[in-house]
Amino acid sequence: MAVSIADRFGRPLRSLRVSVTDRCNLRCHYCMPEPDYAWLPRDTLLTFEEIATITAAFVAVGVDRVRVTGGEPLLRRDLPVLISQLARLPGVADLALTTNGVLLAEKAAALRDAGLHRITVSLDTLHRDRFEALTRFDSHAAVLAGIDAATRAGFESLKIDTVVMRGTNDDELIELLEYGRNIGAEVRFIEYMDVGGATQWRRDVVVSQADMLQIIEARYGAVQPLGGRGSAPADRFALPDGTTFGIIASTTQPFCRDCDRSRLTADGVWLMCLYATAGTDLRRPLRAGATRDDLVQLIRTVWSQRADRGAEERLVLGSRAPLIPVAALKKDAHLEMHTRGG
Ligand code: SF4
Repeated sequence: MAVSIADRFGRPLRSLRVSVTDRCNLRCHYCMPEPDYAWLPRDTLLTFEEIATITAAFVAVGVDRVRVTGGEPLLRRDLPVLISQLARLPGVADLALTTNGVLLAEKAAALRDAGLHRITVSLDTLHRDRFEALTRFDSHAAVLAGIDAATRAGFESLKIDTVVMRGTNDDELIELLEYGRNIGAEVRFIEYMDVGGATQWRRDVVVSQADMLQIIEARYGAVQPLGGRGSAPADRFALPDGTTFGIIASTTQPFCRDCDRSRLTADGVWLMCLYATAGTDLRRPLRAGATRDDLVQLIRTVWSQRADRGAEERLVLGSRAPLIPVAALKKDAHLEMHTRGG
């Protein structure tokens, strides 16, 4: 049975986000706006067996929620094989995946059959021309087809994640809520974050939770806060007709005090925080012969020293600019959000 651990602020380790690739088939403005990128060397990527071994070590210290991320995770060949390995780990109560949806139409049924519980699709606009301007790819129809396939595949829940940017898609909140209601998906609006990789970030482009609620209430009337967020990142609300939606206010109302998440990069670096500038290499000890118990001990030691609260520390800065300069990002791919899984 798992024996849970706590960091220096008493936060347990419950949730692990596992990136399976740093590659992506889109170039979203808020994540990958640069013309070119440095990639992780292929021989450093964890195999499925290595990912399953490391995840099992995390489960042994109390992790019961696992989310597969990227880059774009559906670019990783045979991903349903990994999903079935993770789904079989005793103790994983919640197995989810975040995708941009481009390849989802062909993979949704196989992912569900492999044991994936929940799926979140990133969709920032319902307009094809805007999608192309925002992502540099004409893949809007593919994403909508992927979402359609996901609604038919029988997942326990389907969410739509939208990063809201002033002047780009802040006029689409109502349209997106209506879309989500029509397809039976909960929409979550995300404040634009100044994380590594967001090299074009500007404070005036952030649409705050307060601003979003004002737009939504102007259309529907008062919304009801649902409370009970716990360690989840989204504040949830209900429209007068009962339709629920979420807002992830990481930039203006950070929730680090409840953060029980950490991230594993595709090459096995374990990061304590989305804003962390360094992590713990788990691949090296594993490939040097460390057992699962050795990994458990290492995870215990590192988590017990964790004091990260990146978004809260950013909030109190007088002036805010992109977190990491482009030159530093080019030298270390681990600093990029697309490497650490958002
Ligand atoms: S900024 Fe770091 S500590 Fe705060 S919620 Fe995000 S990942 Fe957790």
